[in-house]
Amino acid sequence: MDTRERDLRHGSGHDHGRAHDHDHAQQDVPSDITLRVKALESLLVEKGLVDPAALDAIVDMYEHKVGPKNGARVVARAWCDPAYKERLLADASAAIGEFGYTGRQGEHMIVVENKPKLHNLVVCTLCSCYPWTVLGLPPVWYKSAPYRARAVIDPRGLLRELGLELDEDVELRVWDSTSEMRYLVLPERPAGSEGMDEAALAALVTRDAMVGVAKVAPPAPRGRP
Ligand code: FE
Repeated sequence: MDTRERDLRHGSGHDHGRAHDHDHAQQDVPSDITLRVKALESLLVEKGLVDPAALDAIVDMYEHKVGPKNGARVVARAWCDPAYKERLLADASAAIGEFGYTGRQGEHMIVVENKPKLHNLVVCTLCSCYPWTVLGLPPVWYKSAPYRARAVIDPRGLLRELGLELDEDVELRVWDSTSEMRYLVLPERPAGSEGMDEAALAALVTRDAMVGVAKVAPPAPRGRP
């Protein structure tokens, strides 16, 4: 667990599908929705309506196969192809769909672009809404109560604590995700990446940069690790 995770991991957080009506005060016991999901899962398995292996396969897919690599490919394409970037900013769901990344928790996507004087940060103040199709499952700190609160109360202080110091003249916009609307940050292409191809660029893009808690670091100079 890194420092950030340790600092921010005060609440257990939870995932959810559509509802925003669950209780957020009980952070240390399983939430109502978690218990309801468990009960429903047990019942469906018991009645033979659902194969537990099929459920495991879905969880495995979001944990291992779908992940930030998808988002990184989208970002790298936008850096290389101005027409794609235009489509992405105009209709993110459709442009992301061009890669075949569609489905659960990615239906209504909005991509917000970082610029030299504008930085975007994504949070879900109510719970943990997150663009699964491009970033996979949300990290623990994203779901934590301190992150969710401080992203609104003191976003600059939060970013500073996470190692990102924004100049005072950089505007900071905070986007609150919901079950209806999920945000992906299009980070700035780093200096020193000129001439890199799309695949190499995608390898530079991190999950944190696409949430807006970090920038994409310049590539390591040739000959150095
Ligand atoms: Fe949420």
